[in-house]
Amino acid sequence: MGEKKTKIIKTIRVDVDKCNGCRACEVICSAFHAEPKYSSNNPARSRVRVIRHPLKDIYIPVYAGEYAAAECMGRDRYTIDGKEYEECAFCRASCPSRDAFKEPDSGLPLKCDMCESDPDLPEPMCVQWCLNDALIYETREEEVEEDTVAQQEEMETGLESLASKYGLQKVMDAVARMSRK
Ligand code: SF4
Ligand code: SF4
Repeated sequence: MGEKKTKIIKTIRVDVDKCNGCRACEVICSAFHAEPKYSSNNPARSRVRVIRHPLKDIYIPVYAGEYAAAECMGRDRYTIDGKEYEECAFCRASCPSRDAFKEPDSGLPLKCDMCESDPDLPEPMCVQWCLNDALIYETREEEVEEDTVAQQEEMETGLESLASKYGLQKVMDAVARMSRK
């Protein structure tokens, strides 16, 4: 057993009752992650997307999560206040079965990084821009095995070097092939 280490877990709590569907979170996310920064804004490049149903006053922000190399076997349907939502509507994954959370030009997966690309940010950009306080940034500490943290960092460093050598798409294709074996 390795030593225990404290890890900071970052979360964004979503209060859907306060969201009015303004999509400011989508706009600032796409602008903040544009290259160069703020050179464009296109919600299709955002790592958060707001599911909107204005007639029923339903707005639900969903954050881009992990990339999934293969589509899952199941499909879920949700009914909220009498409105039925399409299969996969609330799924956070960028996966082969749909276009959500894919960079529109390259098709590369998008994933929320909690804006860690700028370590000086006091809070993620979408939280700062949500004037309705529907997005609440929270942190908590968790104890984890030091080995687990070290292994994760080692794996991420390895993947980054593979991606820079061969390109992210080739690495993802290889992972997809491996997951089918
Ligand atoms: S900025 Fe806030 S209120 Fe506007 S759509 Fe996003 S979560 Fe909803
Ligand atoms: S936390 Fe940052 S990366 Fe994630 S959706 Fe919000 S603005 Fe985008």
